[in-house]
Amino acid sequence: MKYISTRGQAPELSFEDAMLAGLARDGGLYVPAEVPQMSTAEIAALAGRSYEETAFRVIRPFLGDSFDDEQLKALIARAHAGFSHEARAPLVQLGANHFLLELFHGPTLAFKDFAMQLIGQMFQAVLARRGERITIVGATSGDTGSAAIEAFRGLSNVDVFILFPHGRVSEVQRRQMTTPDESNVHALALDGDFDACQARLKDMFNDHAFRDEVGLAGVNSINWARVLAQIVYYFTAAVTLGAPYRPVRFAVPTGNFGDIYAGSIARRMGLPIEQLVIATNQNDILHRALETGVYETRGVIPSISPSMDIQVSSNFERALFDATGREGGAVARLMAELGETGRFAIPQEALGNLRALYATGRADEDETRATIADTFARSGQVICPHSAVGVKVARARLAGSRAPMVTLATAHPAKFPDAVEKATGIRPALPPQMADLFERPERVTRVPDDLAALQALVREQRGG
Ligand SMILES: *Cc1c(COP(=O)(O)O)cnc(C)c1O
Repeated sequence: MKYISTRGQAPELSFEDAMLAGLARDGGLYVPAEVPQMSTAEIAALAGRSYEETAFRVIRPFLGDSFDDEQLKALIARAHAGFSHEARAPLVQLGANHFLLELFHGPTLAFKDFAMQLIGQMFQAVLARRGERITIVGATSGDTGSAAIEAFRGLSNVDVFILFPHGRVSEVQRRQMTTPDESNVHALALDGDFDACQARLKDMFNDHAFRDEVGLAGVNSINWARVLAQIVYYFTAAVTLGAPYRPVRFAVPTGNFGDIYAGSIARRMGLPIEQLVIATNQNDILHRALETGVYETRGVIPSISPSMDIQVSSNFERALFDATGREGGAVARLMAELGETGRFAIPQEALGNLRALYATGRADEDETRATIADTFARSGQVICPHSAVGVKVARARLAGSRAPMVTLATAHPAKFPDAVEKATGIRPALPPQMADLFERPERVTRVPDDLAALQALVREQRGG
């Protein structure tokens, strides 16, 4: 199995090299050269199996010879051991023909745990085999950083440094990053905002001497291995609802397009997904792009669903690559235009292809709050603001077909207690395994918004 870049100019890589590289050298994103197919019989044979067994069968064909079967099974088992629900991704019914796929039973209570936990295990296995050590550095506005720390804590061939804006993440999010006590975990509170964190991160990656010296690696949402892990729950949900014999629809709260892109791969593998619905908050570049045909950046307006507050949607490049008939040159030109002018027009044929696969909708702040309240009133389910964006957009489309609609619930309501309490009058409690979060000691280094100081700190704190 080979991986190719969406911009057509980078060398083809194996699965593990694409995972370690993250971004391709031509600035593109890695995608599999061919998407493996699952037959009707193979999909039917997933019925009644555990999440881990399904994961093994879905993921295996993408890996080439990076892991043998027994090793892969062990990695998958360890990646899901920290989940608090036996089903890993349970389905609950929200209303007539409408289901919620709960993706928040992992260690940091958001769906990013599915990808991070598996990628942590895969990184460690590959590095240990090669006798290499790397330094993962990430910037976060909240969820990604805690998921990365939780996934890499205690792994012997990895140091993980996470930059977050001092004073600008929620207390739950901060404590999830500052309370793990393993010596390879380094939470850094930067004096600046999230943009400053991202800018310093970019600076570190652009300093090639530093990058080689410390073995810098990234695990942001463009990493193919993260997309791969997310394909699995589309299969478990669809099979539970009758696939391969009955088609299913999915509504996905979307920011960087990693989660919903995984759904499109599941569909190309043969899973009968009738429709994938992109649900955005008021930062609606994706919704506008598919409505108008013009992909155009605007400033970010902070919302109560902050993990979807994006200006550009980085994984959309993969969807564009598929929609242009996998023309790397065309994608490279559109991305260059975006860099220069902040916009590009989606070529007509590609737009048609995108519209055939994806429907879109948006929810503004009032609609999001109203949906949290209304969902609670109608079903007793307490949902987080991100999930509410998905539920609102899904409901508007429910009547369009008899295929069951599955909305992805991307975070636990207790991660966003203020917004949820305001809408429902109920303050959602943290689950038992996290109940003592506010008593655990914190460990964090305050850092200035300064590249040289940050590099000195990474050199000094990393193990080796
Ligand atoms: C990251 C995140 C999203 C958006 O997912 P993408 O893969 O970036 O589209 C939605 N909800 C929550 C809670 C998240 O953490």
